Amino acid sequence: MGANLGDAVGTLASACAWLSELPATTVHAVSGLYRTAPWQTQGPDFFNAVAAVDTRLTAPDLLHALLALELRAGRERPYRYAPRTLDLDLLLFGSACVDSVVLTVPHPRMWQRAFVVVPLSEVAPACVSTQALRAVQGQVIERLPGGWPVEGVTWGPQAG
Ligand code: ADP
Ligand code: MG
Repeated sequence: MGANLGDAVGTLASACAWLSELPATTVHAVSGLYRTAPWQTQGPDFFNAVAAVDTRLTAPDLLHALLALELRAGRERPYRYAPRTLDLDLLLFGSACVDSVVLTVPHPRMWQRAFVVVPLSEVAPACVSTQALRAVQGQVIERLPGGWPVEGVTWGPQAG
């Protein structure tokens, strides 16, 4: 999850709630909240986090649901890598590989980005090797201390 326009942190918190309301889907864990300078784009700093969900949706159905949630947050795409109210990317889907016109899983650029790899390692440590963490360790990211500064998001494994 990423956002850098409007109330970015509030939008990410809403996104967590919206994910938990998707059909046949449970939010299993949410990472801490990270702040990074924009990467390949401009504008305000980005806030990022990774959520781990259990779902019975198919990968394409989950992607469609994520794109609908982006629209719900007012997402516009004036140009590639434009600042955004909400970006929801599907990083991994179990051990599945998908390569279609609309969906590539694992996400093709995820391993290049510390703001993906580091929070992913919090919620799915088995998916992130030491080598993968080392590959992004030169990138500056800040983990917000003290968890999420909004009500309604419990950092870490979710109850139930
Ligand atoms: P980005 O996230 O790279 O900044 P966008 O959010 O604008 O780009 O996504 C553009 C398109 O990328 C989406 O409409 C979607 O069809 C496609 N896409 C392909 N694979 C994925 C994925 N794993 N997660 C999210 N979107 C994906
Ligand atoms: Mg995206």
